[in-house]
Amino acid sequence: MSTKLPSLSSIEKEHLHWMQLYLRLPDAGVGPMFSSDEACRERLVDVQWPDGVWCLKCRSKTVGYMMSRRTFYCEICKHQFTATSDTVLRHSRVSIRKWFLAAELLIQHNAKNPELNYPTGHDLKDVLGISYAAAHALKKKVLDDLSFPEVGLVGDCVLTKQPEPLPMYIPKVGRRHFQWVRDRFEKSLGWEPYDDETLVLMGDELFKMR
Ligand SMILES: [Zn+2]
Repeated sequence: MSTKLPSLSSIEKEHLHWMQLYLRLPDAGVGPMFSSDEACRERLVDVQWPDGVWCLKCRSKTVGYMMSRRTFYCEICKHQFTATSDTVLRHSRVSIRKWFLAAELLIQHNAKNPELNYPTGHDLKDVLGISYAAAHALKKKVLDDLSFPEVGLVGDCVLTKQPEPLPMYIPKVGRRHFQWVRDRFEKSLGWEPYDDETLVLMGDELFKMR
């Protein structure tokens, strides 16, 4: 006998997305993993050009780097560009590291509080030490980058872990998938697993609790 499980609400679909992102954040945290702006810049370069930097204008791979200006230059067409030139971070006055930290904060908050619009621009302002206007704009851009279903460059930078493979017996969509992800998420937070049935060992006896 099989029981039909209710399909996911739009809030649950959104929540699933954030929990999946949460499970891919580095165990040590984004701050320690990318401890300087330079480390973040290197990460941006690695993610954008995994096979080596090529020119954004002519695609040549004959590209040099001016350390003092943190600028790449193309030896073929003379075009100059940086790690952020062709990205959502271009012209941003907020450091790359604060973009990364904002992404982590948004993922953590939205995975834990699926029905609340956290963190606010004020929260980000306080945590990152930037102006409210900058925090508000940053939140919007980072949320766009992280949004369902595909994440953008900032997401690719901070999500350093591959997703855990789904067991064969779990369908790729639907409530069982949601529950499987939620169990992993809650376990990673040290929360009690959310199960209808829990096996409890009392003395030598195994009890099934409902
Ligand atoms: Zn070029």
